[in-house]
Amino acid sequence: MGEVLLLNKTSHAKRRQLVVGNWKMNGNQHSNAELLAQIVAGWQGEHSADVVVCPPNPYLIPTYDIIAGSPVLLGAQNVSQYDVGAFTGEVSAQMLAELHCKFVIIGHNERRRLQGETDEQVAQKFMAVQRANLIPILCIGESLAQRENGWHLEVIRRQLEAVFAHVGRDVFANAVVAYEPVWAVGTGKTATPEQAQEVHRFIRSQLGGLAEEVRILYGGSVKAGNAEQLFAIPDIDGALLGGASLDAEEFLKICKAAD
Ligand code: PEP
Repeated sequence: MGEVLLLNKTSHAKRRQLVVGNWKMNGNQHSNAELLAQIVAGWQGEHSADVVVCPPNPYLIPTYDIIAGSPVLLGAQNVSQYDVGAFTGEVSAQMLAELHCKFVIIGHNERRRLQGETDEQVAQKFMAVQRANLIPILCIGESLAQRENGWHLEVIRRQLEAVFAHVGRDVFANAVVAYEPVWAVGTGKTATPEQAQEVHRFIRSQLGGLAEEVRILYGGSVKAGNAEQLFAIPDIDGALLGGASLDAEEFLKICKAAD
C-alpha cells in the first residue's frame, strides 16, 4: 500500500461514515421483513456511522414501518427529474420525501447504461432531489475500457461537471458522491486501495471549498472481507453496497467496520 494510504483518518473525523444498501430489484415482502428485522436488531443505539437501506419503491412503506425508531434510514434507488405531471411510471422526489426517504441514489451505472440516463438527466435529478430537501447520492465511475485507456479521471471530471454546470459546487454541502467503477460493480472485482484513493482524492479536488466536507463513498463489490481495508483509506467515507446489502450478517459487518 502506498505511503499516502498509511495516513490515518483522524484528520477527517468531521465526516460521518455512511453505508448505503442498494437492494436493486430484489426481495419480496417476506424476505425483506426478515432481512430488516435482523438489520434493525444488529444496529441499535448510538453509532458514529449512518446506515441507509434503499428497497424497491413498492417496499418503501413496509420498510419504513420496520426501521422507524431505529437508527436505520430510508433511501430510494431512483427518482424522476420532474416534480409533478404526466410522467407515467415515474416517482417524484416529493413523493419519496412523504414516504420518509432521506437519501436518493441517482446516476447509478445500471441506469446510465441500461436506461440510457444522460449526465444532463442525472443533473436534473440531482436538483429535483434537493428541491424536496432530500440528499442525492450521486454515482459516478468509469467503464473498464475508459480505465484501460487511462481516461478514468477525465470521465469523473465530466460527470461532476455536468452537475456543477447546473447547480455549482456549494450545493454539495447536502449531497453525497459515490465512486463506483463500473467494472467493479457486481463483478467481484474491487478497486485496489491505490486506485480508489486516487479517484476519491481527485473527486475532492473538484469540490472546491467543500472538498474536505463532502462524504465520498466507494462502491463496487465491497464485502465484509475487504471493507475494513477500504474504510482505512483516508478519502473513503463509507460504501454503497449492492450484493452485500441483501445479507444481514454481511451488511452488519460492513456497517460495523464503518462505525
Ligand atoms: C452497486 O450496485 O451500487 C454496487 C456497488 O453493487 P455491488 O456491491 O454488488 O458491486
